[in-house]
Amino acid sequence: MPSNRNRSRVRPKTKEKFKHAIRDVVDGLSQKVLIYKQSVKSECQNCYFDKMTNRSTGKCTSSSIIEAENKQTALGDGAPIRYKWFKFGRCPICFGKGYLETQRRTWAKCIVSWDPSERGGGNMITYTPAGTEGSTVVRLKCDPKYYDEFKNCEKIVVDGIECKISRPPVLRGLGNQALLIVYAFTTDKPKIDSGEIIKDYT
Ligand SMILES: [Zn+2]
Repeated sequence: MPSNRNRSRVRPKTKEKFKHAIRDVVDGLSQKVLIYKQSVKSECQNCYFDKMTNRSTGKCTSSSIIEAENKQTALGDGAPIRYKWFKFGRCPICFGKGYLETQRRTWAKCIVSWDPSERGGGNMITYTPAGTEGSTVVRLKCDPKYYDEFKNCEKIVVDGIECKISRPPVLRGLGNQALLIVYAFTTDKPKIDSGEIIKDYT
């Protein structure tokens, strides 16, 4: 089919709308939203891991204080403490667990709309997960570069209020002018357990 037909699929009005939306972001109408990413488990490098018991063996991977110090120094200035000499017993880095759990947080600049359904958003109410009536919906618009952060997050904090993402974020817009739209809801009085909500992610 003629290619100019495809081109005209995007109406100028729509283009304008997204230009404005992008400008809003650029103009700094955005505010910071805190994203709690899923915690990451990594094997402790300071002790040997026991695959049989899934715990630390209680043996240090360094053979001396100096070796442990050198390994830590090699990580660079300001790096978290990952090596600390101990003779035997409980590893001072992982406290005997054999692995480290890191809770990662990041900030995303967003345009925040609380309760978008009351602002003429129309069918926005459908974004409320079943069983969570009473919780408030918040809509975020932000740069698409935050897609993975929002998709895989454990929770977010908007205006000091903890929220959960109600469904995977959606990209709206045109090419490099796309915006990421995220819907979340407050978790003050959750009526379904968080496990059910997480299933929604897959
Ligand atoms: Zn350890």
